[in-house]
Amino acid sequence: MADPQTRFEDLMSKLRERQCRMTPQRVALLRLLASGTDHPSASHLYDQLKTQFHTTSLATVYKTLSLLDDMGEVLELGFSHGVVRYDANKPYPHPHLVCIRCHKIVDCECRTAACLAEQAAKQLGFQVVSHRLDFYGLCADCQNTG
Ligand SMILES: [Zn+2]
Ligand SMILES: [Zn+2]
Repeated sequence: MADPQTRFEDLMSKLRERQCRMTPQRVALLRLLASGTDHPSASHLYDQLKTQFHTTSLATVYKTLSLLDDMGEVLELGFSHGVVRYDANKPYPHPHLVCIRCHKIVDCECRTAACLAEQAAKQLGFQVVSHRLDFYGLCADCQNTG
């Protein structure tokens, strides 16, 4: 994972290169995205942003997220019921651990998924452009609360 400050500056300069308007809201959103390791949803980001900027709308959050997605700077994790969670810290495919009770999502630090994708690609002559691996279960906190 990139250091939050480095990642923040990285995202800022990439958006500036594209001549994007850097409103205080957008800057604050980038800071949230760069520092977060909790894979927030758009509405979660919106709730956090709203405490600082009362005029912010959910549409503004989505606009920035879809811009980052176009640039390949955010990983979108779609789930059933239309929930989408975002990882702007590691914008490339990587395995996740998903808690089925509190819906916490954490990165799983293993190279297995990439290896499997490479293997499948080699064996079947398939050109892999993306892959996804989620492990579902109970996080340590949820196991303790029974
Ligand atoms: Zn949990
Ligand atoms: Zn992640």
